[in-house]
Amino acid sequence: MERLKLATVWLGGCSGCHMSFLDLDEWLIELSTRVDLVFSPLADVKRFPAGVDVVLVEGAVANEDHLEMVRAVRARSRLLIAFGDCCITGNVTALRNPLGDPTLLLQQVYGAGVGREGVIPSERGIVPTLLERVLPVHAVVPVDLYLPGCPPPAPRIKVVLEGLLAGTPPELLGRDWLKFG
Ligand code: SF4
Repeated sequence: MERLKLATVWLGGCSGCHMSFLDLDEWLIELSTRVDLVFSPLADVKRFPAGVDVVLVEGAVANEDHLEMVRAVRARSRLLIAFGDCCITGNVTALRNPLGDPTLLLQQVYGAGVGREGVIPSERGIVPTLLERVLPVHAVVPVDLYLPGCPPPAPRIKVVLEGLLAGTPPELLGRDWLKFG
């Protein structure tokens, strides 16, 4: 049987969704016999590959690197799963949105003053530039399946992955994970 090419991506999130994935504990061993983990913060792969079957995307789109990444992920993946509430709604990551354009805030935080160099880190190319607003992933690229929760509980992740491995159509999977509250 052909192995599923699985990827996980970490955008603007706290990594709690990935921690929940790791809470699958010993089932991860079974999963590893049925999928190839081709890209993930859990694996040392630098470039998102082509031909990915399923990708779990944690986090919102908060900066220019996220924007570039999520577009590449969409172009190279068959099924994109919005993994957790930050990806689905912006959630915690979007708490900065009511503050408006981040430029003024960054200038106030990093601007010239006692003990400050007056340089915003993104201007040095050290960190990516923040977007004006944090966006949920579906505002940037189409999403195929939503896996909600902050974080999504491990049994819910399992039922979705098991369903996909069993060939269940993605549109029917949401009905199944509802049983796992
Ligand atoms: Fe963290 Fe919750 Fe956002 Fe997941 S949904 S990245 S657990 S804040």
